[in-house]
Amino acid sequence: MFEDTIAAISTSALSAGAISIVRLSGKDCFDVLNRVFRSRTKEYEGYRIYYGHIVDPLNEEVVDEVLVSIFRAPHSFTGENMAEINCHGGLYVTRRVLTLLLASGARQALNGEFTKRAFLNGRIDLTQAEAVNDLIIADSHGSARLAVNSLSGSISRLLKPLINDLEQVIAHIEVNIDYPEYDDNGIITASEIKPLMQDWIGRCQRILAAAESTMVIKEGVRTVIIGKPNVGKSSLLNALLAQDKAIVSEYAGTTRDLVEGDIHLGAVTLHLIDTAGIHESDDYVENIGIQKSLQALEEAQLVIVILDGSAPLDQQDQELLERTEGRNRIIVYNKADIERHEGQICVSALNGDVEQLVEAINRMFAENQQMLDQPVLNNERQISLMRQASEHIRQAQDQLNSGIPLDLVNEDIQAAYRCLKEILGQYAREDLLDGIFSRFCVGK
Ligand code: GDP
Repeated sequence: MFEDTIAAISTSALSAGAISIVRLSGKDCFDVLNRVFRSRTKEYEGYRIYYGHIVDPLNEEVVDEVLVSIFRAPHSFTGENMAEINCHGGLYVTRRVLTLLLASGARQALNGEFTKRAFLNGRIDLTQAEAVNDLIIADSHGSARLAVNSLSGSISRLLKPLINDLEQVIAHIEVNIDYPEYDDNGIITASEIKPLMQDWIGRCQRILAAAESTMVIKEGVRTVIIGKPNVGKSSLLNALLAQDKAIVSEYAGTTRDLVEGDIHLGAVTLHLIDTAGIHESDDYVENIGIQKSLQALEEAQLVIVILDGSAPLDQQDQELLERTEGRNRIIVYNKADIERHEGQICVSALNGDVEQLVEAINRMFAENQQMLDQPVLNNERQISLMRQASEHIRQAQDQLNSGIPLDLVNEDIQAAYRCLKEILGQYAREDLLDGIFSRFCVGK
């Protein structure tokens, strides 16, 4: 339990709004509140809202007329006594309310400190704490859905069965070692553990595969638009972004640098990269652009190849098609206002007619979108710990297969177990937690 009581403005402290919320949490929450809040009672019940006034205790000057929501420990977000003061949302008034609380015994909360307390008081696990922040910073339907899903504790439900299975085997091995005279449980043997391990590895792999396809939705699909000069790459990018970020020009090879932009298509976010196009050039600056294009192509998760539908395909087009063979790609025929190609994905970037392309992209990532409603790991910290867990189980399996005794194999099983628990925040180091919570905003 924490000794001090913390306070912060939880709504945006940068601009005025109709209402602001100033939050207070800690052992002495109601004592601090009572120094500045005047209402008909001081006997607050949890889950109730009290009407009253915030005053300056020095002279009883009324600062604001407010509503205060009361939460009593342990039934609050942080698990501590909490009050949320709904005051008028002017910058001056909101800050004055906070200042009065700070002068009355509260301490200014650090970034993410309310959520950190919720975690340390056992109200939520670390994946839920991360989801709180993910939901706040979510900028697309997909990432918001993912965060809401994790907020409910779905990752803990996903991992618990595996954690429990490992725990049982670890306990069994330890009892066998420490109390060889107890044979009520029987002696667990390598041949009994081998099939279990195979099953654990399969489960880890399925969890990792689901996580990877979801990360595509969360982080955006790195997408390259590629095509020879003048097929309409920049125009298409602009049509998709519906804004003038790229340079559109009638002269070949004028897009000299990568131009980037995000576009949200349903639950999929494409992180678009326009390129200089891949072709031979004597121009020094243009060649730098071409190198960047090649690198972007290498790293892309989706390649959109544009062909000029108004002219026959030439050797440059063929080369691009060959180069992108086997990649996750969509071939688009542009300039459909001049000529349409039946059975192909046709667009007119000039007229903003890009519907067929948008549909094709959505179809391609429909499966990833379905994953959003499943319990799934969804950040690098979680995924990397899961990979480590899987690796430890694999090592344990190798050792078992080469006849190494169970008490030694058990060390790797235990290491895997610790990695899984660490995903949920158990065994998490203080500096690691500080790193996670410092990315939060104040008041959360
Ligand atoms: P990039 O070099 O591939 O980026 O091509 P741009 O986007 O700069 O376009 C090259 C030329 O083709 C410009 O004159 C565009 O106006 C024209 N263009 C682009 N898209 C279309 C289209 O859908 N239809 C027609 N008719 N012209 C287009």
